[in-house]
Amino acid sequence: MSEECPKCGAEFSVTEIGGGGICGACREPINCPYCHKTVREERTTGTFFETLIKAPDSLLSQHLGISDDDWEDMGAELNENTGNSGDMTYCYWFIVPENTPEEILVKTGWEIGQMIDQIPVEIVENDWDY
Ligand SMILES: [Zn+2]
Repeated sequence: MSEECPKCGAEFSVTEIGGGGICGACREPINCPYCHKTVREERTTGTFFETLIKAPDSLLSQHLGISDDDWEDMGAELNENTGNSGDMTYCYWFIVPENTPEEILVKTGWEIGQMIDQIPVEIVENDWDY
């Protein structure tokens, strides 16, 4: 049985070790193995072990409404929008590449050659931490 972390979207499974005892149950946290935040607590006489099944898609992919695989399939190139000064990045943009798979276009409503603008800097730059 797998579940999804509500904080980061990672998929993981929970295994209960030593549960099913009659007394001595206490609340044990179930922690996301990816972002290490506590997802919920459950009463058990044992402990929980969490196994990561699938890391969440990057913030960029989530923002765009596609998966990381989609993004790779597209092969789009992100560009910095530095405004007039060139000193500071205001946002990122890219052009939907010619060989973007049809299903991505249908899913997102993009057109080939369309400029996707206003991608927040935090989303792109946070990605480098992964
Ligand atoms: Zn998480």
